[in-house]
Amino acid sequence: MSIKENLLKIKSALPENVILVAVSKTKPVTDLMVAFNAGQRVFGENKIQEMTEKWEQMPKDIQWHMIGHIQTNKVKFMAPYVSLIHGVDSLKLLEEINKQSLKNNRIIDCLLQIHIAEEETKFGLNEDELNNLLDSESFKVMNNIRIVGLMGMATFTDNQFQIQKEFEHLKSIFDTKKSLSIVNCQLSILSMGMSGDYQLAIECGSTMVRIGSSIFGGRSPLTPEGGIA
Ligand SMILES: *Cc1c(COP(=O)(O)O)cnc(C)c1O
Repeated sequence: MSIKENLLKIKSALPENVILVAVSKTKPVTDLMVAFNAGQRVFGENKIQEMTEKWEQMPKDIQWHMIGHIQTNKVKFMAPYVSLIHGVDSLKLLEEINKQSLKNNRIIDCLLQIHIAEEETKFGLNEDELNNLLDSESFKVMNNIRIVGLMGMATFTDNQFQIQKEFEHLKSIFDTKKSLSIVNCQLSILSMGMSGDYQLAIECGSTMVRIGSSIFGGRSPLTPEGGIA
């Protein structure tokens, strides 16, 4: 199937309240333009430099989502245009986003990444760290960021029960924090689910799925990915 067929098929099967992020990392602009011309406007990338190059070349009504792990010193390159940052997992990173956002006279929307997988390698906050961050005085005075939701990645496994347990765990954290009313923190987005597990994620309450290979085809294993943006 073509990129257009893949995209339209996935989109038509998504519930209305679920946003599709087309994960286009490692793919050429020509592939992204096929998805754009089929109506897709939300794209996800995991490296700031690659995302910025694509942003420069592509139509300006695209919403760019940073889904990878972020190096603090590169935040400035995406601050002028990024529409949602998924992988925020420290106060230090939030401080830098707030600073760069202010410089650009913007308010940047962010998701806090929660560690739900068994693997040590997956980034994210645990529940205590999440509570500490939300309670901290320095967070409360950040006027140029807005925490609009949570993001998580399940363990890479074939065990559906385990994946389901992890998604349900994240949904329960989301539900307990949803009622928080801090000016810069109002949770409405739950970003969970990728090509292999998005249907399960939606059953568990996801409102935003990040789908790459099922739209654009597989990525070369030789291409580095999932690393530092
Ligand atoms: C690459 C990536 C995805 C998309 O993965 P697919 O399996 O290709 O759908 C989703 N989320 C994150 C954080 C990623 O890095």
